[in-house]
Amino acid sequence: SLSRFANNAGASLERAAEVTKILTDGTKAVGVRLASGDEVFASKIIATTDPKMTFLDLVGEEACNASSPTLVAQTKEWQWESASLFNVHFALSERPQYELGLTDPDVDRSLIKIMGIESVDELMTHIRTVKEGGFSLAGSATTFTDYDPMQAPIDVQPGAAVACFETLAPYENQDGDWDEISEGYVKRVREMWSEYAPNLRDATVVRHYVNHPKAIEAKLPNMKRGSIKHGAYLPTQMLSNRPNPDCSSYRTPIENLYVGGASVWPGGMVLLGGGYNVAAVVAEDLGLERWWSEPDYVVEARKKGLVG
Ligand SMILES: Cc1cc2nc3c(=O)[nH]c(=O)nc-3n(C[C@H](O)[C@H](O)[C@H](O)COP(=O)(O)OP(=O)(O)OC[C@H]3O[C@@H](n4cnc5c(N)ncnc54)[C@H](O)[C@@H]3O)c2cc1C
Repeated sequence: SLSRFANNAGASLERAAEVTKILTDGTKAVGVRLASGDEVFASKIIATTDPKMTFLDLVGEEACNASSPTLVAQTKEWQWESASLFNVHFALSERPQYELGLTDPDVDRSLIKIMGIESVDELMTHIRTVKEGGFSLAGSATTFTDYDPMQAPIDVQPGAAVACFETLAPYENQDGDWDEISEGYVKRVREMWSEYAPNLRDATVVRHYVNHPKAIEAKLPNMKRGSIKHGAYLPTQMLSNRPNPDCSSYRTPIENLYVGGASVWPGGMVLLGGGYNVAAVVAEDLGLERWWSEPDYVVEARKKGLVG
């Protein structure tokens, strides 16, 4: 696992340790304060939180202004995503059997099954509805246990499956409070899903787990307004503008403070690019030889001139 890899390279990890302050001395970052009150000092600090949290909450405006006349103003312009996600995970007594899969085996083999959208127009309507604050019953389903059988160990319940349905969703929902309306949506999702996989109608739902935009925000404080990429993909927040022109090289105007994570280029999703890039920059600033080799796809991209 990632943590074992880090331990083997000499790192120690503190889990569930909330950082409440990035400590500075003049124009330099020198450490962090934890919610426990403990202070940890370091020669280099990498923040993978969103820019508003990193600079406005953790560093603080006064300390930012000591290093840059533009950092605070740029950070205040940061925009969250205009839509988030709603998903429901079902632990099922049996695997969803898609009717279409009986005649087309590729349907059964596909990772993601898209339901409720049959045309580009319907897709555009779906997106528009969500952006206007409505819930639109269309999305995608994946049977996780097809790829990770450990999620439903056969010695516990043979034939059982874990599957998830996911759709775009608004943070502010016209239908009401997310906590109150989510279970109604779960029922509607199951009804629609059963039209495509009829055995779901009678399958036993052993347990289900719902995620909605406000639950995402509560669980992951960087995903403000359910922004799963820590901030919108807008021309003003991409390439050398992500998270802002002062910090897009992964260095920040505050000496020894670096940024990584979804709010830096190349952005969010499970790309790992922000972490990979900032690690190289910190190694360079520490005068260290990189002890890792580039993944094949980066080497290929470099050959094609796609990576600088
Ligand atoms: C429901 C859902 C479904 C998704 N589906 C997909 C998908 O299918 N494919 C895909 O590519 N991406 C998906 N994403 C997006 C993807 O998970 C994120 O873009 C990605 O996790 C961002 O990685 P990160 O490390 O930058 O930030 P995060 O994963 O948000 O990690 C940041 C960490 O920092 C911690 N933290 C925050 N503040 C502090 C603090 N003050 N002190 C200490 N720790 C702190 C948080 O608890 C969190 O653990 C999904 C996200 C969600 C919520």
